[in-house]
Amino acid sequence: MIRLKSKREIIIMQKAAAILRQAFERLQPAVREGVTTLELDRIAEEAIRRSGGIPAFKGYRGFPATLCVSVNEEVVHGIPSRRRLQTGDLASLDLGAKFEGYYADAARSYPVGKGSAEAMKLIRVAEEAFRAGLQAVRGPARRIGDISHAVQAVVEKNGFSVVRDYVGHGIGQAIHEEPQIPNYGKAGQGPRIEPGLAVAIEPMVTAGDPAVQTLEDGWTVVTRDGRWASHYEDTVVFTEDGPVNLTGGN
Ligand code: MG
Repeated sequence: MIRLKSKREIIIMQKAAAILRQAFERLQPAVREGVTTLELDRIAEEAIRRSGGIPAFKGYRGFPATLCVSVNEEVVHGIPSRRRLQTGDLASLDLGAKFEGYYADAARSYPVGKGSAEAMKLIRVAEEAFRAGLQAVRGPARRIGDISHAVQAVVEKNGFSVVRDYVGHGIGQAIHEEPQIPNYGKAGQGPRIEPGLAVAIEPMVTAGDPAVQTLEDGWTVVTRDGRWASHYEDTVVFTEDGPVNLTGGN
């Protein structure tokens, strides 16, 4: 069942989203040569708690950290560790916060130092795909499939693939609510988009094949072919006036 949000609930979600925006403002400059992914996790947790929020992922189904850090061929759900980022790496950071009972969720991918041409293209295409997905649902009578189709079209036009095994999601009093927001599909299909719908739209883009697998740690999702991946995510709420990007700003 899809639970539409009231204006009061949306105001609280805006606050949860603002906490994430502030956290990413601290994280982005910290993604540099030599930083450990655990240090990034500490920065993320401090930023969220200082703003009165609660890390959404820590303890979620047993996940041990605040931040997911997925490097290079890692797609999502990477566990922070003593690994030091190196120049040329591609780091995808996924972060969720809870505030007064409501969640926001966002992800950004960054190069460490100067990224390769392919890394920079992966980063750019994931964001472009997100923006195309959002643009596709600015008018009336739109459906979730319009987002899915637009995301897939941008990614594949650029010669990349969209991951099938993980999808975007509704969000609110739970971090993962209905409906699912696949990054592939047909326009005009799926649930109707109505005012009060809140979703996390999150293209996961791979340079090669879309197939992924989970490592023995039970969390880290990597590409099967070892090619690199990127991830971009924002929490969006639909209003009478159209979509509002809570975590990204419009
Ligand atoms: Mg998400």
